[in-house]
Order: sequence, then structure tokens, then C-alpha cells
Amino acid sequence: MKLGKRFLTLVFAVGIGLCAYPYANASESGHAHWGYEGEGGPEHWGSMSKENAACSEGKQQSPINITAAESADLADIEFKYKASELHILNNGHTIQVNYDSGSSITINGVQYNLIQFHFHTPSEHTINGKSFGNELHLVHKNDKGELAVVGVLIEEGKENPAFKAIWSNLPNKANEKKDVKVSIDATQLLPVTKSFYRYSGSLTTPPCSESVNWNVLKTPIQMSKQQIAAIQKIMHKNNRPIQPMHDRKVTADSITH
Ligand SMILES: [Zn+2]
Repeated sequence: MKLGKRFLTLVFAVGIGLCAYPYANASESGHAHWGYEGEGGPEHWGSMSKENAACSEGKQQSPINITAAESADLADIEFKYKASELHILNNGHTIQVNYDSGSSITINGVQYNLIQFHFHTPSEHTINGKSFGNELHLVHKNDKGELAVVGVLIEEGKENPAFKAIWSNLPNKANEKKDVKVSIDATQLLPVTKSFYRYSGSLTTPPCSESVNWNVLKTPIQMSKQQIAAIQKIMHKNNRPIQPMHDRKVTADSITH
């Protein structure tokens, strides 16, 4: 009896592990595995479980194609990132780096703590229909549990030394995790110019929960063809298709520095 219970707990834990999705502190109940093609593909996410209803019924879904943006007098996003040790995992859907506590952004006086960042290739957001080779999502959470994500578009170009430590430790297999005694600093992953597009969206993975404060930086960063190919080789294509705008507007700060 005892053994049976333990076995079930183990099966349950493994199931959760395999289905772990890139946003921290959210649970998924046992349902068919989602992915980016075939039966588990994005067009089926909404019908896979009740919790995923927003994936098909939500009116504020991400990602979007950013076209017209309304210029507004928005305060800068204040980035206060500190160094972290490298905690990197392949959760079967993305390569995720869990970040040590103590780093945050401030949006309109509200502090959101950096929890993790991860990648989608090719990019999820597009700008006037233009897709990018890769996209970095820095996921932050405030005291109320609300999420703010900073998206950084990555175009093919020069090799980016800021990703060296991460790229030399990419876990190849699903559920592989590495803790490496090396210091990384998320500040170095950002473009110099931090002007942004802001809109109200969702998680781009099941359960597609809404009320995510999205901030896509206007200036892309670069990465070499080899760097993009290295993550593509592991993750293949892991970008959700563009979602309808419905009744939403994108605002943009007017900063040019
Ligand atoms: Zn993401």
C-alpha cells in the first residue's frame, strides 16, 4: 500500500516535470502533452484541458504582430538586474534560466522581480510582419503575483559574447538541468536603447493566462547564425503563432535614447 502510493506520487511528479512550462509557480494538471506541431500543436491547446480555455477563447492573447503603436508619455522601465549563478534547464518546451532573487524591474512604481528567462525560436512577436531568429523573454512577478514580461528580439548578426556562458551549457535533453558556478548578468542581454512597445497579453504557452504586462523592446540585439542554430538544434521551432488583436492597442514610449 505504502509502496503503491509512493509509486503513484513518483509517476505524478514525473508527469508534472515533463509538462513543466516556462513560467514559474503555475501548475498544470495531467493532460496530453502540448507542443508546437501535430496533435499537441497550438491550435489544439485550448481544447486539451479546461485550464487552457484562454488559449482558444481569450481576447488578449500573445504573441502579436506589432504594427501601429500609439505614442504615449510612458515612464522608462527601470532595470535593476544583479548577477546570478547559472541555473539552466531544458523543460521540453524551451531553454530556461532560473534567476537568483534580488533582480527586478520597476514599471510605473511597481516592482516586479525577475524569476527566469527563456527563448523562442524563431521569434514569437513580429514587427510589421518581420520575424526574428530568436526571442528572449524575461519573466517578472510582483507581490500580487502579476506578471510583466520583457521581450527582446534577437536578429542574426554578430556573435554575442553575453550569451557565451549560457550557450556553452545548453542542456540537450528534456528535463536536463545544470547548476553552473559561473556568474551571468541579465543586464548584458539587453539592448543599449530600452524603449519599448507595451500591451496587455498572455502567457504564450498553456494555460495562456491573461493579464500579462508585455513590454517588447524596440531595438533588437544580435546573435550569430551559429548561436541561433545551436538553440534551434535543441528546441526546434517553439514559437506560438501570432494572435488576433481584438480590442487592444499597443502603446510605445517616445524615448529615442
Ligand atoms: Zn516565452
